[in-house]
Amino acid sequence: MGSGKVTTGSAPFDFQGKHVTVAGLGVSGIPAAKALHARGAIVAVVNDGDDARSREQAAGLEALGITVRLGDGATLPEGTELIVTTPGWQPGKPLFQAAAEAGVPVWGDVELAWRLRGPDAAPWLAVTGTNGKTTTVRMLAAILEAAGLRTAAVGNIGVSLLDVVLGEETYDVLAVELSSYQLHWAPSLRAHSAAVLNLAPDHLDWHGSMAAYAADKGRIYAGNQVACVYNVADKATEDLVREADVEEGCRAIGFTLGTPGPSQLGVVDGILVDRAFVENRQKNAQELAEVSDVRPPAPHNIANALAAAALARAFGVPAQAVRDGLRSFRPDAHRIEHVADLDGVAYVDDSKATNTHAAQASLAAYESIVWIAGGLAKGATFDELVAASAKHLRAVVLIGADRALIREALARHAPEVPVVDLDRTDTGAMLQAVTEAKRLAVAGDTVLLAPACASMDMFTNYNQRGDAFATAVGELRA
Ligand code: ADP
Repeated sequence: MGSGKVTTGSAPFDFQGKHVTVAGLGVSGIPAAKALHARGAIVAVVNDGDDARSREQAAGLEALGITVRLGDGATLPEGTELIVTTPGWQPGKPLFQAAAEAGVPVWGDVELAWRLRGPDAAPWLAVTGTNGKTTTVRMLAAILEAAGLRTAAVGNIGVSLLDVVLGEETYDVLAVELSSYQLHWAPSLRAHSAAVLNLAPDHLDWHGSMAAYAADKGRIYAGNQVACVYNVADKATEDLVREADVEEGCRAIGFTLGTPGPSQLGVVDGILVDRAFVENRQKNAQELAEVSDVRPPAPHNIANALAAAALARAFGVPAQAVRDGLRSFRPDAHRIEHVADLDGVAYVDDSKATNTHAAQASLAAYESIVWIAGGLAKGATFDELVAASAKHLRAVVLIGADRALIREALARHAPEVPVVDLDRTDTGAMLQAVTEAKRLAVAGDTVLLAPACASMDMFTNYNQRGDAFATAVGELRA
């Protein structure tokens, strides 16, 4: 971790008379275009699509005096001085190549929000990682609230940073979830403190390579003032801290499920403890909460709680607030959600486990599992997941388009585990899957929906998939 190039906050940006191109209509493009226009920029919006909906959206913007070009998101409008892009647009797009050649900077929605903050704006405590972001940010907000601070969980979690920055409400501190896409396009973001929870291959088609994905995640540490929080069990996160340019005096703080060393948070005899933000950390540790205060108390979720606690402590929150915040936290739906107990078998919905890294964490949380898996693999391979989880598997029920990939990995690494391969991708498959799982489970087992795949082959999204699971379990009960 170097602090050679000490970074200061971003300079206030004057948009008056600037030619700004907004790339992409939609959730972040429309509010960005309006905010820029309101600050005196000359705004042009470009969009790939030219359908009825985008025409309607375009008409709304044009009424304000904003130019909109539909059906061509590739050509750089003449005179553009800055592009503000929807974070999802891939860096390889011709528009960005043209911008790079012309020396035009590109910002995402987060960068724009960062630049529009007022001088007294609340500092950001930022979280990224392949998995656990939403849970950690919500735990963090609960802890900050328990400390009596005015705060909100914002960003990639579904609450636009632009809305928060431009809104009326005032905050003491924000708990900010950032995706790798958003970080890619946020060059001047400087968080108070930040955490990278873990790093596993994901979204590689967008970033181009694992190295590029990691580098984008690592941007979250740039210019941190108080703490760069990393996962002791995931060396790649620590490497990112080491490579980061931070403010003088900013510390590297690890979290671990084991006994913490100095400058770490960890677990001792079922207690979450802090050996980082205490007097004399060589000798002392501060008790924060009990493992049973974390819901659900699955290992990866305790790691999330430690990361949230580390960021809160970096902000000066007392230990008692960590305990109170964790106790008041309610997990979101479809994330290791306990649905029912039937005949001594627990039914758990982790439909949000849409990649292998997430599914592996959730399979590690139970002794003996009937695993319901499958869906759209998004280019993933399943060997590592199956090899690591084989000892927990009583049986497996496969659904979805890419189930053969999982079946083959099971044949290689867990040939003795019974597999039911449901050759169907219609929505009704879930009831059959749950019925099969019930038949295979014995008292003490967990039937776990942790698909390791995206849901769009069979469902609208992971929420609908989880709901279908819960409905099917309800039908078994009846
Ligand atoms: P994200 O916002 O990063 O998608 P969520 O908090 O919504 O993360 O959790 C998504 C899924 O990832 C959960 O359902 C769980 O299966 C898994 N998960 C949560 N935390 C972790 C973690 N720390 N490590 C690995 N997997 C995790």
